Amino acid sequence: MNTIQMVDLQRQYQKIKPEIDSEIQQVIDTASFIKGPKVTEFKKNLEAYLGVKHVIPVGNGTDALQIALMALGLKPGDEVITPTFTFIATAEVVALLGLIPVLVDVDKDTFCISVDALKKAITPKTKAIVPVHLFGQNADMEEIIKIAAENNLFVVEDACQSIGASYFFSDGTSKKSGCMGDIGCTSFFPSKNLGCFGDGGAIFTNNDALAAKMTAIANHGMVVRYHHDEVGVNSRLDSIQAAVLDVKLKRLDAYNSARQQAAAYYNKVFSQTEKIVTPTLTQTSTHVFHQYTIQLNGIDRPGLQQYLLDKAIPSMVYYPIPLHLQKAYQDARYCSGDFPVAEKLSKTVLSLPMHTELTEEELKYITEAVLNYC
Ligand SMILES: *Cc1c(COP(=O)(O)O)cnc(C)c1O
Repeated sequence: MNTIQMVDLQRQYQKIKPEIDSEIQQVIDTASFIKGPKVTEFKKNLEAYLGVKHVIPVGNGTDALQIALMALGLKPGDEVITPTFTFIATAEVVALLGLIPVLVDVDKDTFCISVDALKKAITPKTKAIVPVHLFGQNADMEEIIKIAAENNLFVVEDACQSIGASYFFSDGTSKKSGCMGDIGCTSFFPSKNLGCFGDGGAIFTNNDALAAKMTAIANHGMVVRYHHDEVGVNSRLDSIQAAVLDVKLKRLDAYNSARQQAAAYYNKVFSQTEKIVTPTLTQTSTHVFHQYTIQLNGIDRPGLQQYLLDKAIPSMVYYPIPLHLQKAYQDARYCSGDFPVAEKLSKTVLSLPMHTELTEEELKYITEAVLNYC
């Protein structure tokens, strides 16, 4: 059996090595490392895959979120609502731009932003909502879009973990993750569902004016060369990363379905015990399992992690500390106990190995070890 990893990128690469190597070599041979044809090609292919009008490739997912928020014309002191149980990037860019991150609790089943908590957090200063499609499943976007429309708020989706997931609206239409709000953001960090060989990210929008503005912001606020109309940043996806991503994009649906199959195996085995709560699947979204995250019901988490590690099985806690309890984000507005769902999850969740190459033998080995400890 192979060494079990949380994410096995080596094995994935071995299967597509000739194609990847030749695409990378082409970029090297043509020496068009920045803004080359590969970037445009990947952008077009991703637009077609997502069914979205504009994809703007950028340097990473955090930049994508920052550029999105910069484009909305918000003023210092404006409030942006985001969940407290997530990766730090969302709150970080809000704070860096002089905006006020307003944290809210998450839904106990989906781990995504709680719609009730969101409604209660809206004030006259609220300008935007940043829902995070955590672990690969879309947040309750129909409700979120409705609330945003009623309150005149922007919606910027953090789709860094959910690329390829679909959302089903009650009128029978469906959209891809990141393509429902005003703007969607994703990351191509190597371990993401669509990952490159370094850093990368992209912004999605159907709004022409926002697309033009974000394209300029990502390029030093420049439309005509050396004419800077606004303060921008330098954030680019390079050609080598675009070449890798274009090869993997063709396989994204197959990769996501490999993850779903692994998740189905885990779910089936863990349904035998009440000590493990498996991920809740909603009727409105597919789940692309960026992470396979269980909740432990009365099991000692560090003990289980050590037991697994002794059997060479890695596991991770995403995320051990909610944002409102992070040192850098300490704020008189929040204290321990404010967001009970997020705080409970941070103590009980455990993510198990999840990637595109897991074999039945490996899944059997992992699940048997977990059950043995229960
Ligand atoms: C990975 C991730 C980001 C940041 O992406 P980078 O490319 O690492 O900057 C932001 N939000 C979420 C939810 C993520 O998982």
